[in-house]
Amino acid sequence: MVGSIKIKKMSEQSSHARAEQIAMLSWDALRAEVVGCRACSLYKTRTNAVFGVGDLNAKLMLIGEAPGANEDKQGEPFVGRAGQLLTNMLRAIGLDRANVYIANILKSRPPNNRVPSLDEVKACTPFLLRQICLIKPQLMLALGRVAAHFLLSTHASMASLRGNLFHYGVSKIPLLVTYHPAYLLRAPKEKRKAWQDMQCIKKYLTQGKL
Ligand code: SF4
Repeated sequence: MVGSIKIKKMSEQSSHARAEQIAMLSWDALRAEVVGCRACSLYKTRTNAVFGVGDLNAKLMLIGEAPGANEDKQGEPFVGRAGQLLTNMLRAIGLDRANVYIANILKSRPPNNRVPSLDEVKACTPFLLRQICLIKPQLMLALGRVAAHFLLSTHASMASLRGNLFHYGVSKIPLLVTYHPAYLLRAPKEKRKAWQDMQCIKKYLTQGKL
């Protein structure tokens, strides 16, 4: 049964074989794998793995970088001040946090919120890819540079990525980019641009175009 596949430790199989197994998991089995995952060293320092939260039938899926201190403590993405700001940004375009799906590229917190290493991203992203595949959102929103760079396989600047409609993966899921709310707390002058990005989301979800 697909949902009951027991994934071997990374050391026991190739990363490709592991990714293939993860790509077949049911939602519940996927969550269980994330909660017990030890595929990279971040499991040693996390309090909780942070799987994701929201509506499995969501039209909009938001993807950030990695859990921070509050998220690690509560086991939920985008809580604390940055999470509150994100909730307010969604409300401003008539969306409730419970009606979207929110996840991160990494499911365990990097110590001191450092940027994830390439090996950590490689080990963790099969989980996110399976989440995207199961949710099948109409629109994805990359929150911040790390998420945008991973999802779009680019190193382009945020300035050049924002305001453009991209298409993600073989399913060509429409994708927009905006700032991470934690960055907006540090750089409040950029909130005006984030507001423009939220208007793009609203327009796309209601009209199917930018
Ligand atoms: S960051 Fe991802 S791959 Fe690493 S231990 Fe956590 S869940 Fe596993």
